[in-house]
Amino acid sequence: MKSLQKMSEKSSEKEFKIPPEILEAAKRIAELQEQAKALGLFTNDRELLECPACGLKEDVEVYGKLITYIGEYSHNDTGLRFKETEKDKIYICPNCGKDVEEPEPED
Ligand SMILES: [Zn+2]
Repeated sequence: MKSLQKMSEKSSEKEFKIPPEILEAAKRIAELQEQAKALGLFTNDRELLECPACGLKEDVEVYGKLITYIGEYSHNDTGLRFKETEKDKIYICPNCGKDVEEPEPED
């Protein structure tokens, strides 16, 4: 039984150290997210936006491509993209120019 205790000690020791390869992987994931954004993919780091003034809405297609449409859901991307502002969670509607607030995440 002594050896078993030794083994569990070893494994708990391991849990408190982040192995360098995990840190590397985390960095790599952050890089990939940036690349995905650059490709126009939605990386799920915020809520989808909808303009209350003109009805322009964001949606995510299969393969994670971010699109916008007005009114009824459509696969036809308008090509418009909400613009980030200096203010947190405030975006500019590319269609009508109004401020759009990012909705609270739904549980
Ligand atoms: Zn709008």
